[in-house]
Amino acid sequence: MKLGDFEVKSLFENTFKSDGGAMFGVVPKTLWSKHVQADENNMITMNIHPLLIKTGKNNILIDLGIGDCLDGKWRKIYGVGGESQLVTSLADNGLKPEDIDTIIFSHLHADHALGGLKVNESGEVEKIFPNATYYAQKIEIEDALNPNERTSATYFVDLLRHYGEIRAIEGDGKIVDGVAVIRTGGHTAGHQAIFVQSGDESLVYPGDIIPTKIHMRPPWVGAVDIFPLDVMRQKKAIMKECLDNKRYMAFDHDFELKIVKLMEKNGELVTETMEE
Ligand SMILES: [Zn+2]
Repeated sequence: MKLGDFEVKSLFENTFKSDGGAMFGVVPKTLWSKHVQADENNMITMNIHPLLIKTGKNNILIDLGIGDCLDGKWRKIYGVGGESQLVTSLADNGLKPEDIDTIIFSHLHADHALGGLKVNESGEVEKIFPNATYYAQKIEIEDALNPNERTSATYFVDLLRHYGEIRAIEGDGKIVDGVAVIRTGGHTAGHQAIFVQSGDESLVYPGDIIPTKIHMRPPWVGAVDIFPLDVMRQKKAIMKECLDNKRYMAFDHDFELKIVKLMEKNGELVTETMEE
């Protein structure tokens, strides 16, 4: 869709599976199962939607998905649906991997950060986007490179190293004209949301702070989130900000909705779908 002078597009990379309890934390299954169906193992199929932004000057990707580099054991654990569709999805939008100059990671969990790597014909892991500069929060890079017992199944240090330099952002700031980040913490200490602005129009990519439309309810916070109260606080702040400034919201893991507009109707929060 058009966003001011920019073009933004929610891409499809792959699907993976997540435990229902891990996705909805303290919310009982009797409530969340009204909105989403779990399989016989209580697993929910999630979409992965990286965001493409063409500003005219820069071609930017926000998150890259899970990619094809995880070994069979981990692909099974993550319930990866198939092969990565990222490069095909970009080609559908007229871009080659070489055209991407900027990549911003909301955080470095496997389903967001491994999609920029591939195994080449000689069996070596290499970058898919040779001309891009990569960005993540400084704390996120430190945490990803030094995982603990709780986070070691989410960060893959040996694969992440193949990116070489990931530029460290400290706190909030502009990345390129029209694209800025704010450090939210919450899901991980170094998680960030991405804001896009062109003319009067703007959009937020809240990452795993609000992964699906269902997660717009403040207490629906995943058990995987490291700092749940920060997630709740950030969620409310981002949604209020979207309402006040008429911002669009792009979900990273929604089941059908990709980009929505938030509105208040008769005191209730409603969404209008821009892209499905
Ligand atoms: Zn995550």
